[in-house]
Amino acid sequence: MAIKKISGCIGCGECVLSCPTDVLRIGDNGKAEICWPEECQLCHLCRMYCPVDAITIDPEKSIPVIISWG
Ligand code: SF4
Ligand code: SF4
Repeated sequence: MAIKKISGCIGCGECVLSCPTDVLRIGDNGKAEICWPEECQLCHLCRMYCPVDAITIDPEKSIPVIISWG
């Protein structure tokens, strides 16, 4: 797993909107849930957009992917 846990979420939805591979969802409790961790590309966007720093990315795999648009 790449994205590891969400703790202290306030339910703003920024991580859901920022994730390019649809890993996250707002659950019935109004907070973000990791639904498809196997799809995580380690881009760190969810973590960077989270206003309360609620997202932890697996530290063993925490090298941000550098995307080149050519
Ligand atoms: S690190 Fe990137 S791919 Fe993984 S859950 Fe966060 S936004 Fe989605
Ligand atoms: S960006 Fe942070 S606070 Fe907002 S829904 Fe995602 S985990 Fe929760």
